[in-house]
Amino acid sequence: MFKIQVVKADSSLTRLFSTANLENFTENGKKIIGIAANYKSLLKVLNRGNPDNPPIFLKPSTSYINEGNKIIIPKGFSVNQEIELGVIIGKKGKKIAVRDAMDFVGGYTVALDMTATDQMAKIKAVGGSWTLAKGFDTACPVSKFIPKEKIPNPHNVNIWCTVNGKEVQKGNTNDLFFKIPELVSYLSKYFTLEPNDLIITGSPPGMSPVTKGDAIEGGIKDVVSIKFEVDEEK
Ligand code: MG
Repeated sequence: MFKIQVVKADSSLTRLFSTANLENFTENGKKIIGIAANYKSLLKVLNRGNPDNPPIFLKPSTSYINEGNKIIIPKGFSVNQEIELGVIIGKKGKKIAVRDAMDFVGGYTVALDMTATDQMAKIKAVGGSWTLAKGFDTACPVSKFIPKEKIPNPHNVNIWCTVNGKEVQKGNTNDLFFKIPELVSYLSKYFTLEPNDLIITGSPPGMSPVTKGDAIEGGIKDVVSIKFEVDEEK
């Protein structure tokens, strides 16, 4: 008689395997979901009340760039940088409960949510969407993949950004209005979240205009840093 032996996968091996897959999130990810105005300090600066639900937008995956590539400002656009903690989804989920949400996080990245403020103002006037302002090519520079265990508490990391060596943004994720489990749970009500999808969690105050020749540096203190140069469309 044959005996069927069921071998339980070793959880550390499984984790290694899934982490290896997520390293190419910019190649394999289908969605980049942005959260607008999600720092309490920014809500204060903007003089806004507390939102009932996270205000969201999408950036296409074609907006990704990795280090070594330049941010290209489209002709005539005025662009700001926003430094953000990015959450990379590790497994597929829909209607995820807040209490289970962190199990669906596979890792992190630090991202620049490049935003064309002039396009945003123009489209607001006619009630259109932020797609162009947020989604042009090179509008989502990111760091390499950060394994989940490198950031044991994602709600207490310092994020920073400089332009040409001058500090422009400095914040701590303990200032996030909607925390990561709430974001994952809310988004998964409407969008199936899949491995390699990215959620950019919002930016602390200090977003500022950047132009050709500027060097943007940013990062998560003691974890990762990035540097991107700015150029403009020829
Ligand atoms: Mg943003």
